[in-house]
Amino acid sequence: MKKKIAFYTFGCRLNQSETAVIRQGFDMREYEVVDYRNDPDVVVVNTCTVTENGDADTRRLVNRVRRINPQVEVALVGCQAQVQKSQLLELPNVKWVVGNGRKFEMAEIMAEDGPDKQLITPTIRKNSFTVPFVGFEQNLTRANLKVQDGCDFFCSFCEIPYARGRARSREFDDILSEARQLSDAGHRELILTGINIGTYDYEGKSLVEVIEALEEIKALERIRISSIEPTTIAEKIIAKMAGDSKLCRYLHVPLQAGSDEVLQAMKRKYSVQEFVDFLLMARDTVPGICLGTDVIVGFPGETDELFEETYNLLLDLPFAYFHVFSYSDRDHAKSSRFENKIPQPVVAERSRRLRELSQRKRRMYFQQFLGETAAVLFEQQKRGYWSGVTETYIRVKVESEQNLKNQIIPVRLDTIDGQAVIGALA
Ligand code: SF4
Repeated sequence: MKKKIAFYTFGCRLNQSETAVIRQGFDMREYEVVDYRNDPDVVVVNTCTVTENGDADTRRLVNRVRRINPQVEVALVGCQAQVQKSQLLELPNVKWVVGNGRKFEMAEIMAEDGPDKQLITPTIRKNSFTVPFVGFEQNLTRANLKVQDGCDFFCSFCEIPYARGRARSREFDDILSEARQLSDAGHRELILTGINIGTYDYEGKSLVEVIEALEEIKALERIRISSIEPTTIAEKIIAKMAGDSKLCRYLHVPLQAGSDEVLQAMKRKYSVQEFVDFLLMARDTVPGICLGTDVIVGFPGETDELFEETYNLLLDLPFAYFHVFSYSDRDHAKSSRFENKIPQPVVAERSRRLRELSQRKRRMYFQQFLGETAAVLFEQQKRGYWSGVTETYIRVKVESEQNLKNQIIPVRLDTIDGQAVIGALA
């Protein structure tokens, strides 16, 4: 009988794409993939260590799968595995802890007749890399395409350079080969992912060259950049978005804080003014561009006044939304040793205010498109509505009897419904 295996992903888009690759490594003649709630024999958890919550989430998941099957064998792989190492191996039912350097070999590691508990977290080398399998997504519309890994920036709050190693780029031809296979399999939009993708550099080729080569793939219709550091965005990228390109008019640029004092303490590479200048230039150059950001609240030393600076900046800037993260100490991050930590209730209240502001900003962003027609890539049907996204990342829902899956169709945008827009086929 086939063994039942479940995969579970915490954290970012890159982790999602990597879980899809890990899954491809398993021989499906031997395994049946099930949901983690469906009594699996083995669970592979791709972990995240960005916040304390990520750590607690892993422990909770291990306990949950144990309650379902007390004999379950758990593999914890990825970022948290890389930095917390043996601590994780002590969790009940955890048999393998495998860091980022070898997680793609998970299937082979499991197949070996190794010791009862295995800790495999070698140092990650700085070399360029290839990805062993194509990470097809089950949902046949948009797929993640990994182009880069690691980071050399060492922001003071961030553990990623330790968890994922130094910045390195995926071999150019390897990216193109996966992109062709993904688009041949029906994916119409590819989302370029990595940790610091603007620093892509493979034998002199930059992210711009990657995008230009991807544009040559006929069946591919949209290319989207996921998150990108503000200081790494080439002018040519903005020019492409403004012109006739497959590159979506969408930029997610992490701001993290809206005061120079906090930005400096965070070791970010820009001042508030530089960020503002860039953002306004992008808005003025690319009509209708969707601009999103990340912000951390409660960084050590963030006084009420400094927080208000961030709040007011976010209020003024042309963002369509922001992701709000509550600061938490990470063992390897410099800021864990900073003084003036902010009490939890204050952090919670600041987060609440920013999340509420983000929702308002999203509605304001939607407002400008009502009555217009936009092309929507439809993904799935849920509760009577077909749902998809525009090039500018507006979630659109329409009622239709037709099967719209994986089609790009013009839709008239009619009304705002929470964090989405209801439309009608044009
Ligand atoms: S740019 Fe800063 S926040 Fe982003 S991964 Fe690198 S160190 Fe972390």
